[in-house]
Amino acid sequence: MSKHIQAVRGMNDILPQDTPYWRLLEDTARRVFEAYSLEEIRLPIVEKTELFKRTIGEVTDIVEKEMYTFEDRNGDSLTLRPEGTAGCVRGCIENGLTHNQVQRLWYKGPMFRYERPQKGRYRQFHQIGVECFGLAGPDIDAELIIMTARLWRELGLSDLQLQINTLGSAEARDAYRDKLVAYMESHLDELDEDSKRRLHSNPLRILDTKNPAMQQLVSDAPNLLDHLDEESKQHFGQLCGFLDAAGIEYVVNPRLVRGLDYYNKTVFEWVTDQLGAQGTVCAGGRFDGLVAQLGGRETPALGFAMGIERLVLLLQQQVEVSVNVAPHIYLIMAGEGTSQAGLMLAERLHDVDSRLRIRSHCGGGSFKSQFKRADKSGAQLALILGEDEVASEVVAVKDLRQGEEQKNVDWNELGDFLQSRLDLN
Ligand code: ATP
Ligand code: MG
Repeated sequence: MSKHIQAVRGMNDILPQDTPYWRLLEDTARRVFEAYSLEEIRLPIVEKTELFKRTIGEVTDIVEKEMYTFEDRNGDSLTLRPEGTAGCVRGCIENGLTHNQVQRLWYKGPMFRYERPQKGRYRQFHQIGVECFGLAGPDIDAELIIMTARLWRELGLSDLQLQINTLGSAEARDAYRDKLVAYMESHLDELDEDSKRRLHSNPLRILDTKNPAMQQLVSDAPNLLDHLDEESKQHFGQLCGFLDAAGIEYVVNPRLVRGLDYYNKTVFEWVTDQLGAQGTVCAGGRFDGLVAQLGGRETPALGFAMGIERLVLLLQQQVEVSVNVAPHIYLIMAGEGTSQAGLMLAERLHDVDSRLRIRSHCGGGSFKSQFKRADKSGAQLALILGEDEVASEVVAVKDLRQGEEQKNVDWNELGDFLQSRLDLN
């Protein structure tokens, strides 16, 4: 026998035992987003490689070493999207959605990054994201954060901490960047290889290092908050005021710089200590320059994305999901002509009430073996069709959970009988 083919490393099957948690998250997010008047957008999974290089930044983990890039048959360089913002901005510009309009959009779907797989970190993972265009003030920053807090509440999640920071304007960041480079240069021998490489291309990213040996150096570095421009300071102050008014707790984390180049002003992350090293479940911020950078008109914008796998892990730790998808009815059929009569009867029942969950036994077999399956299915009732029942157009009903007498019900009365008998809500 040949060896069976396995899935690509870091790309997971999501099995029926887990999908109820995914659905809980997806359905709740959609409900909450719609309550805040967001609209859904669906975007391609594959984009031109150039899009990600120009938006995420050439000197970032994603673009340097994590992209799934390939040539198509035309020789065009394409990439499986590593995140959703770039494609969303591209799609909005291309379809004229950012032109003098406000957009509040959400999306969900798979993302791809060639990372080292571990708990909470995969090569195909899934995000639910939100992007807003055309709104410049701190009010929308606050509303989005408040909305995410509501989502956690509705999901029943706790132990999530909000961290916020501001990166200031592009100019303020440039001025700060010079100070940071000077500081890092005076500690050159303490920098790791990645940081040395980034010192001149992308020094802010050094602050985002996960290398424990660099933590002291980083925490002694000049603080971006001390070098902010007036406008960004005000924006950040107002955001904090909105969050205070909403009763949302947060920690200002001056080291929060985010791993992508396009952010300015507000950045935020929701983190938990319950998932080990992969503690960030939701992250985002403002990217006012991105639309123009991709050829659109100057348009303020912001957004965030959450990692579905990490939130599902958290839900599985914290929330009891009771989604009963066991069938109400197991249909047992044995004898000449009973399969056809049974399938037709099931169709009549589906016509009567679309909430009925019916598992029709397929594949034949004795009454005894079918009863075993019926019992295992978790169904409340078994409907039994033998040749006699078909001849007299009745079905025998047996309650599989209570030791009641089996009784015959007329096909014509079966719909009403089941509706009164079963809890269909
Ligand atoms: P991290 O610091 O954990 O690598 P990131 O800053 O690269 O995260 P973002 O690009 O901001 O992540 O993506 C938003 C969210 O998507 C993250 O907070 C996380 O919940 C999730 N995420 C990112 N990469 C992965 C991955 N490889 N596997 C699973 N979830 C991921
Ligand atoms: Mg990452």
